[in-house]
Amino acid sequence: AAPPGAGDTEGQIRIENLRKTFDNGEIIACDDVNIKTEGGEFVVLVGPSGCGKTTTLRCIAGLEEPDEGKILVDGEDVTGKKSKDRDLAFVFQSIALFPHMTVRKNMRFGLDMKTDLPKSEKNQRVEEAAETLGIEETLDRKPSALSGGQQQRVSLGRAMVMEPAAFLLDEPFSALDANLRDHMRVEVKKIQRRLDTAMVFVTHDQEEAMTLGDKIVVMDDGYVQQIGTPYDIYNEPKNRFVADFIGSPSPNLIDCTVEETSEGVAFVSDFCTIPATDEQAEAVRERGDETVVYGVRPEYLNIREEGGHFVAQLDVIEPLGDRDAVHISSGGTPLSAVTPQGEVSKDRETVNVQIRTDESWLFDEEGDRIV
Ligand code: ATP
Repeated sequence: AAPPGAGDTEGQIRIENLRKTFDNGEIIACDDVNIKTEGGEFVVLVGPSGCGKTTTLRCIAGLEEPDEGKILVDGEDVTGKKSKDRDLAFVFQSIALFPHMTVRKNMRFGLDMKTDLPKSEKNQRVEEAAETLGIEETLDRKPSALSGGQQQRVSLGRAMVMEPAAFLLDEPFSALDANLRDHMRVEVKKIQRRLDTAMVFVTHDQEEAMTLGDKIVVMDDGYVQQIGTPYDIYNEPKNRFVADFIGSPSPNLIDCTVEETSEGVAFVSDFCTIPATDEQAEAVRERGDETVVYGVRPEYLNIREEGGHFVAQLDVIEPLGDRDAVHISSGGTPLSAVTPQGEVSKDRETVNVQIRTDESWLFDEEGDRIV
């Protein structure tokens, strides 16, 4: 690895036209995957189970051989190289520490394979990593005497001492309980910032992806659906899948027909009529869409005393902390709104709902974003 501050190519990973199949091509694990990361970037691959994120990571790692495509690390084509020659370090879901070795020995294990490093350098790297991770006092203990979070830190430390060009992490916190997981997310992000080393992190948890990623790669069914910053992905989803997968509670997706009314284009569902914005009207007129899926996030359904676009039945209020998720339904369609804590009384039977139309999305029949 180049010294810190050596420029932004350090830790740059490129995946070009990656395809990997199993069972003689019967199973397409991932296809047409193109991802470009910058040095020092925290990249998260996220998607539902089976979407191909682990296979993509394993191809980067050199643990799977791609059918097609290239992997470049810092500009060098490593596609044909062995895993150990790629200057990458992995952290997996299962912690897999050697139970009979002390933490110190566990952390030094990978380094001990490197015969060209002096012992003093190895020890120093272990001490430094332990300090960064806040586990100095555990160095002479066995893994069984550590908590789950400490064990996961040791496995992170084992990767850190290698001083790789980039770290690859596959759901490293999924075995931890919720509080510890939240804590470790923040820790790992801080460590990544401090080391300024690229990380490629795999998770099925959209919230984890949003918290950690500088860049998020959303995958479904073997294909990349969208790549962007957390804000891009959240605010401007490219398709219905991304809109639905990211954010909790899920966005409202309403099936509508497109109609010309005396006041211009409107989207008509079986429970409401929503006027189009100028941009939306222009787009659907030009394309000639007859139906659309109208998408709007729960925070853009405003609950009012009266008026609004439609009246809905109040089903249940779910406290989220500072906000409430207000679950409602209209004409049998379940919807949700997010409001400040306590704003909507649980005693109400119905609520009037105003849609922030300027914050809405339109998707076509295939689920692709129109505007
Ligand atoms: P998960 O979160 O469940 O690990 P994932 O998104 O990481 O899922 P992959 O593990 O990459 O998905 O798997 C993608 C597809 O490839 C799945 O259909 C999976 O069953 C298949 N697959 C993965 N590895 C193999 C293998 N060694 N042999 C056969 N099929 C495989």
